[in-house]
This record gives sequence, structure tokens and C-alpha cells, in this order.
Amino acid sequence: MNWEDNVRKVVPYVAGEQPKEQDVIKLNTNECPYPPAPGVAAAIHGFDCDKLRKYPDTDASLLVHALARRHGLSDRQVFVGVGSDDVLAMSFLTFFHSGKPVLFPDITYSFYDVWADLYGIPYQRQPLDDNFCIRKEDYFRENGGIVIANPNAPTGVAVPQSGLEEIIRANPDSVVIIDEAYVDFGGESCVPLIEKYDNLLVVQTFSKSRSMAGMRIGYAMGNEKIIGYLNDVKNSVNSYTMSGVSIAAGAASVADETYFQDTVAKVVATRERVRGELEKLGFVCTDARTNFLFASHRTIPAREIFEALRAEKIYVRFWDKPRISDWMRISIGTDEEMDRVIAFLGDYLKK
Ligand code: PMP
Repeated sequence: MNWEDNVRKVVPYVAGEQPKEQDVIKLNTNECPYPPAPGVAAAIHGFDCDKLRKYPDTDASLLVHALARRHGLSDRQVFVGVGSDDVLAMSFLTFFHSGKPVLFPDITYSFYDVWADLYGIPYQRQPLDDNFCIRKEDYFRENGGIVIANPNAPTGVAVPQSGLEEIIRANPDSVVIIDEAYVDFGGESCVPLIEKYDNLLVVQTFSKSRSMAGMRIGYAMGNEKIIGYLNDVKNSVNSYTMSGVSIAAGAASVADETYFQDTVAKVVATRERVRGELEKLGFVCTDARTNFLFASHRTIPAREIFEALRAEKIYVRFWDKPRISDWMRISIGTDEEMDRVIAFLGDYLKK
């Protein structure tokens, strides 16, 4: 017996590769290719470093208030954390405590089973249909909680709010988490359902549509009771999750709605153009409502294309996993970056 026998052993989540080499076209972690709103830089440059002597505001009130106003909620209906990964991890810890299995799709964000394993939460994966769509009946059974990414990752497929409402309504005894990391790119948000269902928690992030993955800001919205429980658990782990700089930068981003809308519109326009180009090259794409496309070539295996792209310093994501090993996830970069990808694929597939 030694100390290692008593370690909590986990198989961690594997994030997309962060390249060390230069000149990479990085389309593997769904970052936004455009900078954050200009006010964010101003907030960071103008930040008074003397403030760092003191602990930040535990409630992150400035940011919480900005988000509450943005979504038409009260401050007590918003919880903020260090990226939505932190918010989701905290939510699993808080709400999935019944001992019954938590339900989520078989193909979805691959962090859900990692958190469940970490916290010892049982879970059951519910298979998506052949079009990567949720079968809502799968969620009408006894469970200890539900988590659904909408739009889903890595497929990009979105469910209408009405489909999710049926699931939320059918499960008054468990918390339903809707992970809306990509909703701004064309999904239908469940935020309007918060007033109706006290078992609903909607999670969003600054990492994609607000171009702030490096700042680490995510948030959850729900009724005051559910947010209160989340804050109690967070304040039992670490009271000061949000630095003063991230609070100021986050609030500055939310203040510029026009910049936000323009950025999202640019990414969506590029996505639709690239989808058309990929289809001309023999790819099939899902109807992704995200800042990425999920594409499979009709004849060439995804691994081969993935490796050819990589040799060309174009990084996309590929999973050698059941049901999706024919597919690649391609984040949407700038128009210039995407033109280079399309040009390369055009040459490569001709060979
Ligand atoms: N949910 C989904 C579905 C995601 O794809 C991601 C990004 N990896 C996250 C949550 C977490 O993003 P972040 O922690 O940067 O907010």
C-alpha cells in the first residue's frame, strides 16, 4: 500500500491541440477568428493594477448585472464562472446528486462523461438517430439529471426550443442543463423558458461568439433558487473564481451589442459559404448552426483528409470514435483562412 492507491484516478478530457509552430491555420477548438469588442481592450488597458492587491468581488456583480440586463433577467438569475467548463463542472457537482443516472446523447461534448466519472455520477448515453438528432422519448424515463448541448457538439445539429421544452416539462424531478455554447450562431435559446420551469439551467460562454476563450468566462441562467444552490456550492469550493480583470473585460464585451451581432453575422456568412464549397468538393455537411462545420467526404476517409490538412499546417478536429470516425469538425476562421482550406482540399481531392 502506498499513497498512490489512495489517489482519485481520472481519465481527463483531451482539449484540441494548441500548436507550438507558427503559421498554423487553427480550426480545431472553435475559437472566433475576430478580436473581442474594442471596449474589452480598453477595459484591460485601463485596469488599475493597484486593485490587484485586494480580492475581487465574489459576486462579480458588474458582470452579472450586465448579463442579467442583456438577457432580460434579474441579477439573482445569473451565475458566472471561469469558462462554461467551470460552470458545467459546478453544475454537475451541485445538481446531479440523486444516485440515478444522468442522461446525455452518445455523441456530444466529451467533457460530460469526464465530470460524471470525476464526481462518481452514474450516467447513460442516449443514442442520437442516424441524422444525429435527439430522440426526445429517450429522455422521458427516470433519471438523475439531463444535459443537452444545443446546438450539439461536434455535430452542430440544433433542436428547436419546443423539442427541449417537452423534455424539460417531462422531468420536473431533475435538473435539465442546456449547454448553449454555440447558440448565438443560429440556435434557438431556452432562456425564455426560465420563467416557466424551475428545473432548467441554461449555460452560455464568452469563448465563441464573444471571442474571449482566453479570458475564461462562462455563465448559467435559471430561476433564483437554482442559481442560489449553484452559488452555495461555488462558495464552498472557491469564492473568488472571477478575477477583477475578467469581470471588467466581460462587462465591456456585453456593453457592445452591435459589435457582437456583427461578429456573429460574419462567422455565419463564412460558414454558409464554406458549406457550399465543401459540398461542391464531395463533402456532406450537417446543418450546423455553430461556428464550425461537421463534414464527411463521400469517398475519402476523414482520417486521411485530417492528416493531409495537418501536414499543410491546417488543424481541424477528428475523433476516432464509433459513429463519427468518418467526420471532421472544422471551425470557421476568417474568409482568407477558409479560402486557403478550400483551395488545398480542391487540389488534394483532385489527386
Ligand atoms: N460546451 C461545449 C458544447 C463546448 O464545445 C465547449 C468548448 N470546448 C464548452 C462547453 C466549454 O467552453 P468554455 O469553457 O471555453 O466556455
